[in-house]
Amino acid sequence: MNLSEAASLLHSARRVVVMTGAGVSAESGIPTFRDAQTGHWARFKPEDLASPEAYWRDPEMVWDWYAGRYRDVMAATPNRGHTLLAELERRKLAEHGEGAFTLVTQNVDGLHLRAGSRPPLELHGNLTHGRCETCEHLQPLPKADSFTPPPTCEVCGGRMRPNVVWFGEMLPEDVLEDAQFAFERAEVALVIGTSSQVYPAAALADVALHRGGTVIEINPDTTPLTRRASFSLRATAIEGLAALMAESSEPE
Ligand SMILES: [Zn+2]
Repeated sequence: MNLSEAASLLHSARRVVVMTGAGVSAESGIPTFRDAQTGHWARFKPEDLASPEAYWRDPEMVWDWYAGRYRDVMAATPNRGHTLLAELERRKLAEHGEGAFTLVTQNVDGLHLRAGSRPPLELHGNLTHGRCETCEHLQPLPKADSFTPPPTCEVCGGRMRPNVVWFGEMLPEDVLEDAQFAFERAEVALVIGTSSQVYPAAALADVALHRGGTVIEINPDTTPLTRRASFSLRATAIEGLAALMAESSEPE
């Protein structure tokens, strides 16, 4: 398969699923978890900041870390990759109706929503909400510049934890099921900016392949998925999406 064939399939597909990873947010300057570990935080192992055990030991420290990452995210803006995906979503929904487009993300920054996408399936939760430790209620965090953690649940008054999936925790089951369903039904699955080394990105791509779907990967580097993908584009998210979507608007 070549670029123009991939673009043409994307253009005509009636059901599209997109999985995004850190590479999509990198172009907004969002540091990865490890890249964000500078200064004071450099001496911690990731699991010392992002695990139920760490939170149990020192909730204030863990909240300090997440409050900092929340401020980073709110200071960033969505990039052209995010807006191209929002545009693709609008186009597919307009042409083929509800169910024609599903966005799944491993990112926790909320940038897809801010770029105009419908709420994506967030496999790893998000940095923009707190989750009540007592009643599970989700609530947006206060404005980043005035936020002093921990937030208090507006329903039961309980302490809230960051609404992200930590090391040693399961992915949210309902979100994973919806993602699996979308990959099963997809005519075209786009896998963008994820190393495909961490479950479930590669496994979901395989679900689409086994069901006869076309899997298009966009990544500047080769990944474990590259050899199995129907087509793999060595490009950043923005370059890759621009190429696929520009080609696909040409007459067939
Ligand atoms: Zn509560």
